[in-house]
Amino acid sequence: MLDKAKKLITYLKTKGADYADIRIHEVDEEERISTMNGDIEDYQLNSKQGYGIRVLVNGAWGFSSSEIMSFDAMIATGEIAIEKAQSASDFIKQSINLAEKETLIDSYHSPCEIDPFSVSTADKIARLQQLDKQLQHEKFEYSGLYCHFYKRHILYVDSDGSEIKRQLIEIDAGYFAYATDKEGHKQRRTFNMPQNANGTTGWENIINDQQFDHTLRIQTELLALLDAPVCEKEICDVILLPEMMALQTHETIGHALELDRILGYELSYAGGSHVELEDFGQLQFGSEKLTARADGTVQNSPGSIGFDDDGVKARNVTLIEKGRLQDAITSRQMIMEANDKAGKVIFTASGATSRSQNYSNLPIERMNNINVDAGQDGSLQDIIAATKNGLLMESPRSWSIGSNRENFHFATEIAWKIKDGKITNMVRNATYSGDSLPFWRSLDMVGNQSTWELQPVFHCGKGQPNQIMRLAHGVPACRFSNVQVGK
Ligand SMILES: [Zn+2]
Repeated sequence: MLDKAKKLITYLKTKGADYADIRIHEVDEEERISTMNGDIEDYQLNSKQGYGIRVLVNGAWGFSSSEIMSFDAMIATGEIAIEKAQSASDFIKQSINLAEKETLIDSYHSPCEIDPFSVSTADKIARLQQLDKQLQHEKFEYSGLYCHFYKRHILYVDSDGSEIKRQLIEIDAGYFAYATDKEGHKQRRTFNMPQNANGTTGWENIINDQQFDHTLRIQTELLALLDAPVCEKEICDVILLPEMMALQTHETIGHALELDRILGYELSYAGGSHVELEDFGQLQFGSEKLTARADGTVQNSPGSIGFDDDGVKARNVTLIEKGRLQDAITSRQMIMEANDKAGKVIFTASGATSRSQNYSNLPIERMNNINVDAGQDGSLQDIIAATKNGLLMESPRSWSIGSNRENFHFATEIAWKIKDGKITNMVRNATYSGDSLPFWRSLDMVGNQSTWELQPVFHCGKGQPNQIMRLAHGVPACRFSNVQVGK
C-alpha cells in the first residue's frame, strides 16, 4: 500500500498538484454495544476500508475519497480531486498557503493492553449486562450502558516526503439512569469512563472495577437526588468537579480558541469567537491561576493521535499561561491565513490539530486535549474547607453558550451545598451562568494533581458537512468566586 500511495502522489504532482496527500484507512473497525434495563438494545459491527486524497492546485483545495482500494481507483479519485481544485481556484479570493513542517517517516500506536477486538462479543455483552444489573433500581424509569470500540490503521503519505503509519485503538464507555423526582420532573445521573492519562486504552479498563464500575455511586446519587431540595438562586462560590470543568473548558476555552473559528470559518454553523487576533499575547483571559494547553502528547486519550492529518507531530501548546492568552488551536493553513490577515507573525508553527472524522472528510482544526494545569490549592477537601458559602457541582445536564462563546448558562446533574467549609446537603436542578472572561478571571482556587482527571468528550460537532470528533480534557477541581447560581 505504501508503494501505491507514493506512486499516486508522484502522479498527482505531474498532473499539476502543488501539494498532495493521501490518508488510507487500511483497517477501520467499529463495534457498538448498548444495553437498556438489562436487555441488549443495540449491537453494530462495522468494518471498512477507504482513503481520502487532498491536493492543492493554484492555491485551492480539492478533495475526493473512495472505498475502492485498487491503484486504478486511486488514480481516478486523485484526478477528481485535481479537477475540483482547478475549478475552485477560479473562485478563491485568497490562495491557500501551508506553514512549514518537518518531513517525517514515523509511526504511532495507541497504548493498549487488550485489543477490544480480540475479546469475544459474548464476553463483552456479559460484562455490560453484569454492570447493567447492578445499576438498575425499581425507582428508575430506565437505565443502561454503552461501549463503543474503535480500531484504525491509517497510512499517511504526502508530497513533502512524509510517510506516517498509525494504529489507533479507543474505547468510549459509560452509563445512565433516569428517574422522576417528587415534583414529577426527570432527574438523571450519567457516567462517562474517564481516561487514564498515563495508562492504556483497551478492554482492560472495562474489566477493571475501579475504572468503570461506579454503578453503586451513580445509583445512590440518583436516589438521593429525587428528594433533594431545589438549588436556590444566589451569588456564591462554585467548585466545579472534573466532569463539569471539562464542559466549561470545552465550550469557553476550546471552541473560543480554534483559529479557524476566530477567522470566521464557523460563522454559518456554530458561531464565532470573542477572541481577536490582536488579543494573543495581550488578553488577560483568566486569573493568574489559569494555565491551559492544547496537549496532543498526553499518553492515552481519544485526543491523542500521534500526528495530525497534515502530517504534523503532536505538540503540547500552551494556550493560556498564568491567565494571559498566548496561543490558539492551530493548523498549517490557518496560521498562515491569520498571520497574513494580522500583517505580522502571531503564530509560528502548526499546533498539529488538523483532523478529520474519517477518510471521507476534509481535515479541519479540532481540539485535541484542551487541559487545565493542576494547581497549588490542595485537595478537594482543602478547597471545600476553605469555602464559606458555595456549591460543589458535577456532570453536565444542559448547556447554552453565546455564539461567540462570550457567555454561558450551564445546568448540572447534581450539586452539593457548602456552608462554612462543610458539605451540608445535596441539591437538584442546579445551574450557574456567567460571562466567559470575568468567570475565568474569578478562578481563585485550583486543585492539586489528586483532583485532576482526563474527562472524555464523545460528540464534539463542527464543520459543514458536520464532523463528530472524540477528545478529552484533563482538568482539576476549580473554585470560582461570586457566581450566579440557580437562576
Ligand atoms: Zn465541541
